[in-house]
Amino acid sequence: MISLLLSTGSLWLLSLIAAPTSLNLDVKSGRLSISTPEEVGEDAISVNCQNGERLGAVRILFEKMGAQASDIAIEKFNKVDNLVLRKQGKSEELIVIGAHYDIATLGCGAIDNWSGIVAMAHVYRSVRDLPMEKTLIFVAFGKEEKGLIGSRAMAAAIDKVQLRQYCAMINLDSLGLGKPQVLENLSSKKLTVRVGEIAHRMHMPFAAANIELGNSDSSSFLERKIPSVTIHGLAGDFSKVIHTVHDQPKFVKSDSVYLGYRLALSVIVDIDKCSCDEFR
Ligand SMILES: [Zn+2]
Repeated sequence: MISLLLSTGSLWLLSLIAAPTSLNLDVKSGRLSISTPEEVGEDAISVNCQNGERLGAVRILFEKMGAQASDIAIEKFNKVDNLVLRKQGKSEELIVIGAHYDIATLGCGAIDNWSGIVAMAHVYRSVRDLPMEKTLIFVAFGKEEKGLIGSRAMAAAIDKVQLRQYCAMINLDSLGLGKPQVLENLSSKKLTVRVGEIAHRMHMPFAAANIELGNSDSSSFLERKIPSVTIHGLAGDFSKVIHTVHDQPKFVKSDSVYLGYRLALSVIVDIDKCSCDEFR
């Protein structure tokens, strides 16, 4: 049973069951499949707490979401493995959606950041059969906690000619405690504004508190001047949980993960229809 701990979120989730989306998505064709809160919640609390087994767990999750084994690539850089899945669109313009899979030294990494992995994997499931303009790259980054090593390796490998193809990077880090929000100090302005507008349009619970957090994988792409945004779901008392022994599945509020998933999905579908110049 899903715990509905965000009071306004509960209402929002209930209204979702009647109306699968409040954006003009291609639902009539049946090609956009929206996961239920129960499906997301179940995956959010099924956490493998071993750092060494986490990459394998991400692979299993993507296969559960309908990916073929041959769709999944492990990109090996110096001392780090990123798991990458590409969904070809009509154009070569790229949207990266990412979440780190590694665990900080303490705890189980349920909130930081299995939650982000689960939200990303469900976005994949939702759009897998949806014809899209842009090409999507789903990435589970390694060694974020060691200093954004996986995302920096990927961003650094983009050459100058390819750089123009990168339209946006959506990073999901640490959902599961509260309403989704943008980590503004690690996000570009135009994308931050757009994410807020989309949440508003969806009548979704959305927070705008200014949390100064260390760092996350959006920074690696911002450094390459790719419009980027980090979405998280950290509430006020997050410092008692994140990077501590208390980062455990029992503290994950699955509706927070679900809202993060729905927001990320809508952001990607929205950006897909836009000119990339809107965010640069
Ligand atoms: Zn994290």
